[in-house]
This record gives sequence, C-alpha cells and structure tokens, in this order.
Amino acid sequence: MSGAPVSSEAPGDGTLLVRAGLPEPLKYEPTMPGPVFAAHYHLPGDPTGPYTYGRDENPTWTRLEQAIGELEAPPGAAGSVETLVFASGMAAISAILFSQLRTGDVVVLPSDGYQGLPLIGDQLSAYGIEVRRAPTGGDAQLDVLDGARLLLLETPSNPGLDVCDIRRLVAAAHARGTIVAVDNTLATPLGQRPLELGADFSVASGTKQLTGHGDVLLGYVACRDAALMAPVRRWRKLAGAVQGPMEAWLAHRSLATLQVRAERQNANALALAQALTDRPEVTGLRYPGLPGDPSYEIASGQMRRFGCVLCFTLPSGAHAERFLAGLRLVDAATSFGGVRSTAERRGRWGGDAVPDGFIRFSAGAEDTEDLVADVLRALAQAGAGNQGTEAG
Ligand SMILES: *Cc1c(COP(=O)(O)O)cnc(C)c1O
Repeated sequence: MSGAPVSSEAPGDGTLLVRAGLPEPLKYEPTMPGPVFAAHYHLPGDPTGPYTYGRDENPTWTRLEQAIGELEAPPGAAGSVETLVFASGMAAISAILFSQLRTGDVVVLPSDGYQGLPLIGDQLSAYGIEVRRAPTGGDAQLDVLDGARLLLLETPSNPGLDVCDIRRLVAAAHARGTIVAVDNTLATPLGQRPLELGADFSVASGTKQLTGHGDVLLGYVACRDAALMAPVRRWRKLAGAVQGPMEAWLAHRSLATLQVRAERQNANALALAQALTDRPEVTGLRYPGLPGDPSYEIASGQMRRFGCVLCFTLPSGAHAERFLAGLRLVDAATSFGGVRSTAERRGRWGGDAVPDGFIRFSAGAEDTEDLVADVLRALAQAGAGNQGTEAG
C-alpha cells in the first residue's frame, strides 16, 4: 500500500512529496493520472458537485490541492487543511484580500513586500478600505495593528529578505480580532508552515521554487477554517482566475522533486552567501540561513529551510550590470526559485526601494563548485572593468 506512512513516525519530506496528492493504486491505472480537460462534466438532474463546471472545480486541481494541503498542514493534520489553487500568486493573494475585506475595514500590508502589493493596496483604497503599511523587519507591523481586520505578512520578504516573527505577530493580531495571512512564497511549505505557526491563511505563488522549472504560473491559498475559506472559494468562482488543467498537472508533477531541488538549491544559496561574505565590493549581503544575518535568529525559530534566494549590493548600477553580463551559468531573468540560477538588478524595475547596485540572486541546482566559481569569476571581471571605466 502506498498512501499511508509505513511507520507511526511522520514521513520525511521526500517520502511525502513523491506521493502527495496521488490516488490509491488501481490496477492498470497510471500512478499519476493525466490532466483532465473539461469545461463541463456530465451532469443530469440535481446540479451538485464535486464536478459541475470547469471554472468551479477540476479533478486535476483537486489532486494538486490535496498535495499542497499535505505540505502546508501541521504534521499529522493533513486532513484539516483546505487548499485552493489559482492561476497565479497574485490571483491567490487577491482572492483573500478582496473576499475578506469590506469598505471601512483596515488592512495591514508589508511596505517592503512583493512589488504587486502596492498596486493591490491602491485598488483596496479605491474601494474605501484603509491600507496601512509597515516594514517586515523588527515586526514593525505590530505598531499599526489596532482595529485591523486583516494582517498580511510576507516572510522572508521579497526582495529584501527580512523576516518577521510569525508567532508573535499572530498572537498580537488574534488578541485584537485580526486575521492573519502569510505569503509563504520564498520559504515554500518545506521551509515554513504558517498554519502551524498560528496563521489563518498560508498563501503563495507556486510559480517560484514550489514548482521550480520556470514554466508554470500557480497560486494557492491554504486554510484550516472552513468559514474563512468559503468566501475565498466563492471569489475564485466569480473572478475566474483559475488554472488550466495542463498547468495544474505540470505543477503537481514538479512537486515530487521539491525536496531534492530545495536541498541542492538552498545549499547553493548558502555556499554563495558564504563565498560573498568577505568580498570588499559586496555590501548588504542577506541570506536568512547565514549565521550572523539580521534575520537568522528569528528565521531559525520558525523555518526548517531558508530558501534559494540571496541578495547583495554592488558599488553601482553599472558595476552590477557588468557582473550580470559576466555570468555564464546564470540567466539574466526575473522571478526566482527555478533549477537554473537567475539573477537581476532589481532596481531596473523601479518598484522596490533598493540601491542601484542591488542584486537578487536565485540559486539553481547546478553543482555548487561550478556556481560559486562562476559568480566569483564574474565579480572579479566586473571589478576589473570598474578600474577602467569608473576610476575615482
Ligand atoms: C512572485 C510573487 C508573488 C506573485 O506571484 P505570481 O505567481 O507571479 O502572480 C507574490 N508574492 C511573492 C512574495 C512573490 O515572490
């Protein structure tokens, strides 16, 4: 029998992942059923679910939702978590905010979060919702909680990699009747389980390390409270930001290797952070898993893995561009979490409050020595260019 753990011990992450969300074995059926392409289902008579219309439900989503729910659930409590998948991370975040908040409500957002959040904040303001913002670091969102209906945390934050104390913020929020959602994109559920730490919602973009191949957009919401989840489900149906079955299937297929990918990628991120520690041209180096990082202590208390993203600042925008151009194993691209390393000068978008030379680097699954060597070589090259073009 494949579904149940063989011992009473909770299975390891890899063991859980290779079978998460798969159906019971049936002779002659594939171990992982293919995507179900259906706009509608045979539905004579009483039109009740589970499968009625393609915008409401799909069996390929169901299996992916079950798999993600197993990962987000506190150990031993897989059945307690309800999960909904969406077309993208933004669709999932929007579904929580727009379904939970009403005109006159107060919402607290991170001021240093994903660059789509300010746009959502503006839209909420336009609907008469009071939007308060405070930074992730130092648990600063605590200071603006009074009277809030909903608190959204993003930890680690993107792109600055600050961390806040989820348990502490949840306790303060719940004492005020405020519900809490945590954006779990950077950590993935293998790195951090917000529901176990007390949050009401875990929400994430699965576009990044969760699926990890840079070929799928995915978002999800996980929650243990059916009453809180009902409006989110209703919002998905009415806004219609649903995933195609092919994307849901690809995402589910990718989950099987998440533990293996995260193991290598996160080790690479730590190795790079260590290699950059003593470089004179590197400032503002951040990686939550690096002992001595301002996030390390709190991160260690709530994260099991520290992610594959690090960030640092080079002396100028031009210096950073030379560095990026010199990399051979690293794609110049946005987003993060994929098996192929990517890096970008974040300031080129204009949306984040970061220095010109700020680099967000996503470690892929290349061999550690190759990746570190490539980065050190490109740094040396960019520094040599500096003497020629920016003397003084
Ligand atoms: C990328 C990202 C999002 C948005 O996800 P999409 O899948 O691109 O819509 C939200 N939050 C964080 C922290 C992200 O990094």
